[in-house]
Amino acid sequence: MTSIPIFLRRLVIHRSGDRCEYCGLSQAGQVATFHIDHITPEFGGGSTTADNLALACVSCSLRKGARQLIKDPASDELVLIFHPRQQSWREHFDWDDVEVTALTAIGRATIDALSLNRPIMLAIRAEEKIFNRHPPS
Ligand SMILES: [Zn+2]
Repeated sequence: MTSIPIFLRRLVIHRSGDRCEYCGLSQAGQVATFHIDHITPEFGGGSTTADNLALACVSCSLRKGARQLIKDPASDELVLIFHPRQQSWREHFDWDDVEVTALTAIGRATIDALSLNRPIMLAIRAEEKIFNRHPPS
């Protein structure tokens, strides 16, 4: 694994507003340091450049791993996982209070693949609401 230069780390964190670019979680209230995710994995040809990096919470990062194609639970079709650099979060997802809702097949499949609405995430978002860190602005 290539180490990520400090200027790229800073750029990715700043650009994301210090939030996971998949589930929207703010790093501010979390103990674990978020990961700098290679959106396209390095062994899949993904480069360590600003356009292939995203800030990801530990949970999203580990669940995503190197996956690129994931299953849309509604159709069983394979779709590409949400790409935070090439796609807009708001185009594929929305909020229903503490739950992430899908607007597209990519949104549905990504919510499923990364388990974005599992009970612990809903509990964390409910707590984040108290601190005005949820929903992301
Ligand atoms: Zn996340």
